[in-house]
Amino acid sequence: MRRFSWIVIGGGSGGVRAARRLAEGGLSVALVEERALGGTCVNLGCVPKKLLVHAASYSEQSIVAATMGWEQRSQPLHKWSVLRERKDAYVANLNAIYSSLLQKAGVEIIRGRASIVAPDCVRVGQEEYTATNILLAVGSRPWKPSIPGSGVALVSDHMFHLESFPSTITIVGGGYIAVEFASICRGLGAEVNLLVRGDRLLSSFDAECARMLGNALRDRGVRINFGSEVSEVSRNPAGGCEVLLAGGKTISSQELLFATGRRANTESLGLERVGVSSDADGWIKVDANFRSSVPSIYAIGDCINRVQLTPVAIREAEALASAVLGGRELEFSYADIPTAVFCHPELATVGLTEEQACDSYSSEEIKVYRAEFRPLVYALGAKEGKVLLRLVVHKSSDRVLGAHMLGPNAAEIIQGLAIAISAKATKTMVDKTVGIHPTSAEEFVTLEA
Ligand code: NDP
Repeated sequence: MRRFSWIVIGGGSGGVRAARRLAEGGLSVALVEERALGGTCVNLGCVPKKLLVHAASYSEQSIVAATMGWEQRSQPLHKWSVLRERKDAYVANLNAIYSSLLQKAGVEIIRGRASIVAPDCVRVGQEEYTATNILLAVGSRPWKPSIPGSGVALVSDHMFHLESFPSTITIVGGGYIAVEFASICRGLGAEVNLLVRGDRLLSSFDAECARMLGNALRDRGVRINFGSEVSEVSRNPAGGCEVLLAGGKTISSQELLFATGRRANTESLGLERVGVSSDADGWIKVDANFRSSVPSIYAIGDCINRVQLTPVAIREAEALASAVLGGRELEFSYADIPTAVFCHPELATVGLTEEQACDSYSSEEIKVYRAEFRPLVYALGAKEGKVLLRLVVHKSSDRVLGAHMLGPNAAEIIQGLAIAISAKATKTMVDKTVGIHPTSAEEFVTLEA
C-alpha cells in the first residue's frame, strides 16, 4: 500500500495550491481527482463564465459604437458553437497547465473517485493509499430545491456545454449565478425571465447598487419578477419548459436554469464512516486550523462554506500549508474580501455594506459618501447607463469600512480600493490621493458629503 504525508482529495483551486505548497515544502503528497484538473473555477465557473461575459458584452458595445459613428451594414450574428469550442480548447490548455504544475512540484496525481475508508486511508478504485493527513478540497456543485419537476431544469454546469444557445430562458434565483447568467444570456440575444423569491437581487451586496443593477438589467430587456415562488416545473411535448408560480401564473421558455445555491461535493466520500462532522446541509465543519472533527482530516474551500470564492480557497490552502510546514498555528482572516458580479453593468464590492456597518457599529457612527454619474463612454448616445459609487466610512475613526461600485470596470477598480481598505485607509487618505482624469475611478477620491 502506497504511503504519503498528505493525500489531497480534489484538484480544484484550493486542492491544487495546497498540494503544490506541501510538496514544495518537502512532503510526499498525492492529489486525487476524478475529473479535469482546475475544479469549478477552471472548468465550470470563473474562467469559462468570464469568457461568456466578454462574448456577451459585444452586443452592448455595438450599441455604444453606433453613438460614436460606427455604422453596421448587417445585423451581427453570434455563433454559440464557435464560442463554446474555443472556450473548451482554452480550458483544456489550462487543465494541462495545472497537471504540469503539480508534477513539477512533485505531487503524485491519482485519477479516480476517492473515498475515505479510515482516518489515514483513502480508496481510489481498487487501490488503497495511506497518509498521515488527508485534506478535503472537494468543492461544491449546483443545488436545486426539491420543487416538483425541478429535475428538468439546467444548472450552471450545463450552461457551458449547451448544444445550442436558447432564444428564451427562465432563470430561478437572485444571487451571483442567476444575475451573471441573466446578463450573459441577454447579451447573447436570449429573452430572459428572472424569477426571484425575495424583493431584491444579491442580498449580500450594497442595496442601492443592487437596486440600480436591477433597473439596468430591466433597461436591457431582462424581465425581473420579484416575489416569485416556483411551485412546479415541467417540459412540454415540444421540449420547452413551463414554470408554474405560486399564484397560478405560468411562464414558458425554451430553457430553464436553477441558480439557487450550491452544496458540498461530499456524496459517497465516506465522511460518516470515519466520523467527519458536517452540518445539516452537508458542509464540512472545521476549526480555525481547518481541522475537521477527525484530527488527521482537514478541509478547505467551498466544501467548508465560509466564503465560496476561488481566491479565498487559494488563500486557505496557502495558510494551511504555511502552518503545516512552519509547525505553527494557522492565521486566517476573512475580513475585507473583494468580490464582483460579472454582469453588465458590473457590480463589485469590498468591506462592509452600509447595512452591515450600521449593524456592527450604529447608524449614527456611519457616513455614506456616494456619487452617481454618466460615464464618458455613454456620453455621446441616448443610453442611460450610469455609474454608482458608494463609500462607507466610520465617522469618529475616519476609517473606510467598505467600497461599492456599479458600472464599467467595477471589479478592476474595486480591486485597487481593496488594497487601501485592507491597509486600513481613512477617508482623509483617500481624499489626498490624486485622481486619474478622466476616469470613473477618480470619483472615489473626490467624494464629498
Ligand atoms: P447565491 O447564494 O449567490 O444565490 C442563491 C440564490 O438562490 C439566492 O437569490 C436565493 O434566494 C435563491 N434561492 C435559494 N433557495 C431557493 C429556493 N428554494 N427557491 C428559490 N430561490 C432560492 O448562490 P449562487 O448559486 O448564485 O452562487 C453560489 C456561490 O458561488 C456564491 O455565493 C458565490 O460565492 C460563488 N460565485 C461567485 C461568483 C463570482 O465571484 N463572480 C460567480 C458565481 C458564483 P435568497 O436570497 O432569498 O436566499
